[in-house]
Amino acid sequence: MREAVEQLLLPAECLLCRALLSFRDSARVVCDVCRHRWRPVRPPWCARCGQPEPSFGRCRLCAEWPAAFGLARSAVWLDGGARDAVHALKYGGLSRIASDLAAAMVGLHVPAVDSALLVPVPLARARVRERGYNQSERLARALGRRWRRPVVDLLVRTRDTVPQTALTPEARLANVAGAFEMRNAKCGMRNEGQPGNSAFRIPHSALERPLVLVDDVFTTGATLAEAARALDRAGARAVSAVTFGRAVVPDFT
Ligand SMILES: [Zn+2]
Ligand SMILES: [Zn+2]
Repeated sequence: MREAVEQLLLPAECLLCRALLSFRDSARVVCDVCRHRWRPVRPPWCARCGQPEPSFGRCRLCAEWPAAFGLARSAVWLDGGARDAVHALKYGGLSRIASDLAAAMVGLHVPAVDSALLVPVPLARARVRERGYNQSERLARALGRRWRRPVVDLLVRTRDTVPQTALTPEARLANVAGAFEMRNAKCGMRNEGQPGNSAFRIPHSALERPLVLVDDVFTTGATLAEAARALDRAGARAVSAVTFGRAVVPDFT
């Protein structure tokens, strides 16, 4: 409903360059030209966390990840128009843009995606109220439609965390420690995220399927690692993660 209203109120022009969108593209938010300007994240990269040009020796970003968390990949570098697009999704109330961001993520390779379940990284409840939606959930649903994979809200955020910007990777890990747990783990994991079906239960076998965490941005991977840790504790066999953007990590050394 909200999306239909957005579409009526907004002129069909590209959010980023204001070029008019063709009739065919009128459901889009970002035009082809702007989307082609997004810079794909490419190898060589750390095989596990997907961070290009890992330093020699052990990769600092993924060394402390839980064992079940096998791999993370991001579609594009978070600069220029890609940053503006994420900003519009997060703070501009423009959830329709999730579809354009998901389109950039379709080619990401994760193991056993054909049997995977997509798991959005949850937001603190206060943030969802403020924003009206969880941007990662919108992104997961848009990607799920393209990959034809179901989305399950397996996780909840147990507390809000301070903004991660300007924290070192180690401080980020401490900041998000214990921030996630399985949804209603004690009473059978009821999935409140299924619209119109609040009694839908997530079968415990969900944890035996490959799980793919979905988030908007990968910065140091601390948030994803913590979400993966909650799944790992609950008994998940294999967890991977995909994000739309990858932030250029400041040099902490
Ligand atoms: Zn444009
Ligand atoms: Zn790594």
